[in-house]
Amino acid sequence: MDYSARQMRLAADLRSARIDAVLVTHMANIRYLCGFSGSAGMLLIHAGRIAKLTFFTDGRYTQQAAEEVKGARVVICRQPIVVEACEGARRSRAKVLGFEADHLPYSSYQQLKQFLRGKIRLKPVAGLVERLRLIKDTDEIEKIRRAVILGANLLPAALSVIKPGIKETEIAAELELQARRSGAEGMSFETIVAAGERSALPHGRASSQPIPASGFIILDYGVILAGYCSDMTRTVHVGPVPPKRRQMYEAVREAQLASIEAVRPGIAAGEVDRAGRELLKKAGYDGYFTHSTGHGVGIEIHEGPRIAKGQVEKLAPGMVITIEPGIYTPDEGGVRIEDMVLVTASGNEVLTPAAKDLVAL
Ligand code: ZN
Ligand code: ZN
Repeated sequence: MDYSARQMRLAADLRSARIDAVLVTHMANIRYLCGFSGSAGMLLIHAGRIAKLTFFTDGRYTQQAAEEVKGARVVICRQPIVVEACEGARRSRAKVLGFEADHLPYSSYQQLKQFLRGKIRLKPVAGLVERLRLIKDTDEIEKIRRAVILGANLLPAALSVIKPGIKETEIAAELELQARRSGAEGMSFETIVAAGERSALPHGRASSQPIPASGFIILDYGVILAGYCSDMTRTVHVGPVPPKRRQMYEAVREAQLASIEAVRPGIAAGEVDRAGRELLKKAGYDGYFTHSTGHGVGIEIHEGPRIAKGQVEKLAPGMVITIEPGIYTPDEGGVRIEDMVLVTASGNEVLTPAAKDLVAL
């Protein structure tokens, strides 16, 4: 991972925004900038002529910080981290200190204000590091590829345990056990297994409901490997598939392929959403596709860009996004198909290797 390139890019952005220093408090951003993967710490970046980084953490992380942190001085705090980070900011003689408006608890903000009163002006910033994270570098793409493949390889094991009467949680358990056995650090979000009527819930976390004799099952899950997330959805059917449901499935598959087809550098994210949404509308499912088409994936499961109606942000090479249209009906249940897609210089590459033909179990 080229941490120094990331640190230099951020410092350049700070200088052009006329911010002397910024206090990074979002752990995913800290990990991106200096490699620390623990759960407590703050990173102070002073833009100056040469960027200076100081990472503040507590005694639990002495060894981990020494092993992981790159390009930053490590301070093991004896006082609360925010207090020592304030002192660091004061010593740096910054006049304006940026803080992550979306990721600083109000109580920490109050402490900052109190410690820095009159000496340093606080300035809320949003999306500063997240903007850098939109474009994945070669190392990140490699890690994401490995996470996606590990995740996709789990699907047969999950399908093999599906039968009427077993609980959704048992299917999720099988997925999660196999994920761990294959080396995953964890799941990237709570596994969704939604069967029968529950498949009409776009976010139906696995419940104790038994699998019915006939109906769709949505499996939406992801793993974390080397700090990067995967995310995929497949919908299968238990029992023979009635024609109406087959039609639903095909409509979603075509919409998904149309949106993937639209992915290329320079296209607005909203246009990618529209490509699939229009097809669903034409197929008579207007109003049943109740969420957006996709999202970026990386260190976090949901990152930019948003692939949604009206989004003007343009796709660029190195972005990794999901394409996941779905339809949800009260009578027939729901269908969603989700792949991860890399935006390349010439178009796109679908990273998720699993087939998308409707599987009847
Ligand atoms: Zn998903
Ligand atoms: Zn997703």
